[in-house]
Amino acid sequence: MTDIGRNVQDNLLPGELLLGVMGDPIAQSKSPLMHGAALQALGLSGAYVPLHITPDKLGEAVQAIRTLGFRGVNVTIPHKVAVMEYLDRLDASAVDVGAVNTIVNDKGILTGFNTDGIGYVRSLKAEAAPELSGTRILVIGAGGAARGIVSALLKEQPASVLIVNRNQDRAQQLADSFAGRGAVAGTGMDAVPSVIGGMDIVINTTSVGMYPHMEDMPIDPAWLHEGMIVSDLIYNPLHTRLLTESLKRGCRIHGGLGMFVYQGAYALEYWTGMEAPADIMRQTIVDCLGVTPGK
Ligand code: NAP
Repeated sequence: MTDIGRNVQDNLLPGELLLGVMGDPIAQSKSPLMHGAALQALGLSGAYVPLHITPDKLGEAVQAIRTLGFRGVNVTIPHKVAVMEYLDRLDASAVDVGAVNTIVNDKGILTGFNTDGIGYVRSLKAEAAPELSGTRILVIGAGGAARGIVSALLKEQPASVLIVNRNQDRAQQLADSFAGRGAVAGTGMDAVPSVIGGMDIVINTTSVGMYPHMEDMPIDPAWLHEGMIVSDLIYNPLHTRLLTESLKRGCRIHGGLGMFVYQGAYALEYWTGMEAPADIMRQTIVDCLGVTPGK
């Protein structure tokens, strides 16, 4: 059990465990399905519900976590940054990333965490790259997901992280925000052909290739080389076209499902103090996407 988990367990309220996810829209979220399966597997009585919260109601919704006795919630698009001002405390993970995806309610005191980046790195190390120290990493995209990932990657002491983005200024600003934390730089997409040969790991953090635009790719796969690790945050489809093309070129591939599972697993561990059933959570999503890929 983690230290946070132990602390959380001490404060765990008796009875039904109320959990949920706040977003706008929210109907497409797979989190209720995944956490529902996890609660059942752990033998915990309670529910994890989708909460459709529009931006103008965010403050009231956060207050309702206390009023209704929710043990915690996940927070998704578009509330990850805006929610911070309504919380009592921010864990270092949320301060580092500048966004919250998990709230823990300890008897009315709400603490914000960010488990996206650590979830991604746990998955990357478990499934593709056990040792990240000394690696040269190319991150494509400079949005919210990229921020969490770069923050978590820098803790692993890579040799370098280069962020490339369609909007070059955004890449540079993101890199600048990590100044002093490692060798991070940001530039435009035109740099990719000349730098990619020296990279060990390429990570797509853009939405290019996501359902329903599954033919799209963020870079030309002809630039990839054998032995390189190619990772994609997208998990719908489970294997993007970028990953299938990378496999044909002898690359090792890593999809986004593990990140989704582990960000949820960390959150569940913070809420319950129990080890999350990550395999069951993963299989639940695989089964769901296998049957209804677009939902
Ligand atoms: P975001 O903040 O909106 O950022 C989107 C990024 O994609 C930006 O860098 C944007 O570039 C780039 N982009 C969008 N359309 C593009 C296009 N047509 N060509 C080139 N670049 C394009 O979104 P986000 O929250 O970071 O999410 C990004 C992706 O990560 C999504 O696919 C999401 O599903 C995935 N994700 C997965 C997980 C998981 O658990 N596996 C968790 C979070 C996110 P500009 O700056 O130039 O607009």
